[in-house]
Amino acid sequence: MKTKKMCSMINEQINAEYYSAYLYLAMSLDADHKGLKGFANWYFVQWQEEQDHARLLELYLLSTDQPVELMPIAEVPQTWKSIKQMVKDTLQHEQQVTASINRLVQQAVEDNDYTSISRLKWFVDEQIEEEESVRNILSSLELFGDEGQTLYHLDELLGQRKYKPI
Ligand code: MG
Repeated sequence: MKTKKMCSMINEQINAEYYSAYLYLAMSLDADHKGLKGFANWYFVQWQEEQDHARLLELYLLSTDQPVELMPIAEVPQTWKSIKQMVKDTLQHEQQVTASINRLVQQAVEDNDYTSISRLKWFVDEQIEEEESVRNILSSLELFGDEGQTLYHLDELLGQRKYKPI
């Protein structure tokens, strides 16, 4: 880590990861309330993974002898008008996260900060997967419909997702 600016940007990213975690917890609870236990499970796993993302960045700061600053987590929405809207919002959120990771990489490149570039590469790759998996769920809802048997089967499928610690 070469600049104070990078340190503060990573601290902001830690906060953004906790915001993501909190957002996905709200989505999990709302999906559960809508009777979609599989979606609720999928978002609960997201909640766990987002906390791991924050943890990775905390460990990176500590390993480069920088302080971690925990900031307040902004309020998240609590309900969505439909499951399709929830998934659409998820894709839009992940696209914003990708943009924010890209800004971190851009700063690291400007700083010739090879250590941060190397650490951030994991996050760049992770965002490809994040966007792809949400896009797949949204495509299923748009192509095959978001009610009845189709929704039932998709919910069953998403219920099979298991959390794997990073
Ligand atoms: Mg994340």
